[in-house]
Amino acid sequence: LFAGPCDFVKGVVAMSGLPDPDRPEICFAGRSNVGKSSLINALTGRKSLARASNTPGRTQEINYFALGPAFYLVDLPGYGYANAPLSKVEQWQKLLKQYLAGRQTLRRAFVLVDARHGIKSVDEEIMSLLDTSAVTFQCVLTKADKMKAGDGVLDQVRSRLAKHPAAYPELVLTSSEKGDGIATLRAIVASLL
Ligand code: GDP
Repeated sequence: LFAGPCDFVKGVVAMSGLPDPDRPEICFAGRSNVGKSSLINALTGRKSLARASNTPGRTQEINYFALGPAFYLVDLPGYGYANAPLSKVEQWQKLLKQYLAGRQTLRRAFVLVDARHGIKSVDEEIMSLLDTSAVTFQCVLTKADKMKAGDGVLDQVRSRLAKHPAAYPELVLTSSEKGDGIATLRAIVASLL
């Protein structure tokens, strides 16, 4: 699954633009700056697959990548920009809701959480949306190389996840910088095919 090329398919701004639901897909969500682009790049072994900097002014697109011929990797736009205009946020939330509730081929969502900061209120919002959309999600901690023992983040994440019916209990700790957890995450993705 991760041996071949992982090509960009299209950026989607409305439900009508989604590719045909002819194969399973997974999606990645997370606060801006959580390390989502870095993680997708590390996962797919590409240097610049996902744009490393997302700016709030840019159109909020759902980016589709083909992971081999039979699987889609979907990069959802980063959320929680402090300065994003309300109209953009609303437009994005509407598309996100429609996507999560309506995409039959979506196998699992991966919600990225910064291992230094734990789950924030914007993460809670998307997790609640995943609950109501009945999309199973798994929490991936990013920047694990920056974690400090005894800071309570793991306990915070576990106790918050326990309150979400759609949360898959197993956490994945990753560091795109050091490569930790990337093989584990690949194996999880492959198991969903
Ligand atoms: P995105 O906005 O979620 O796509 O985040 P990026 O992938 O662009 O990363 C945001 C910042 O976090 C950048 O400065 C990255 O260098 C840094 N970063 C990403 N992954 C890691 C990691 O595994 N460890 C550390 N220490 N920094 C990381």
